[in-house]
Amino acid sequence: MILPPPPPPLPGAALFLDFDGTLAPIQADPDAVVLPEGGAETLRALAAKLGGALAVLSGRDIRDLSQRIPDDLWRAGGHGLEICAPGQTPEKQPNAAPSALMDAMTLLAAGVEGARLEPKGEVLALHYRAAPDSGDVLETAMKKIIAGVDGYILQPGKMVLEAKPAHANKGLTLMRFLERQPFEGLSPVMVGDDATDEDAMAEAIAAGGHGVKIGAGETHAAYGLKSPADVWRWLEAAAQ
Ligand SMILES: [Mg+2]
Repeated sequence: MILPPPPPPLPGAALFLDFDGTLAPIQADPDAVVLPEGGAETLRALAAKLGGALAVLSGRDIRDLSQRIPDDLWRAGGHGLEICAPGQTPEKQPNAAPSALMDAMTLLAAGVEGARLEPKGEVLALHYRAAPDSGDVLETAMKKIIAGVDGYILQPGKMVLEAKPAHANKGLTLMRFLERQPFEGLSPVMVGDDATDEDAMAEAIAAGGHGVKIGAGETHAAYGLKSPADVWRWLEAAAQ
């Protein structure tokens, strides 16, 4: 199904943007993913138009995200585990995942060629883009590992399986934003491409706003855009 393009975000909206796959195309090397040229300026201009009610919500660790998104914007990393207000820099050291979980995941990743473990503070991401046929095997193994770790859940994504604290959730994070200035009382719009964004879209819709799905796939969203390039055309038009 092809979803209609979203209306422009106008003052009165609170805009929440995913990063990977939404503001920038997904790449084999996650370190290579950056905003397009002029992107930071567009986000700043749009944030100003929306009274500051614009935030980037990412599964990346906040320290990693803050190298890619300017410090003068709201940023939430680790699916919302850590939030930085405009002008705020992240704490130097993240909290670590439980060592038993870290050890088991390290072993699992080492046993599958092409699988790669990325520790993101309390979140552990197992990437299998280079071993696409191993997804099911890895998921089964991870379910067993996580069943033994209190407070952790499995979060499947695009060619990635994450072990994350249950409260690291973009939906909960969006709701927390809506309780604080300058987001309070505004109509939330969540823009994202992946499973974790759907939690936040569901909350946005429940709060009277809407979701915007990037690319194909099952979604709560009533609106869609094809690609990050289309997202930027939409953002730039609204920022002018
Ligand atoms: Mg994404």
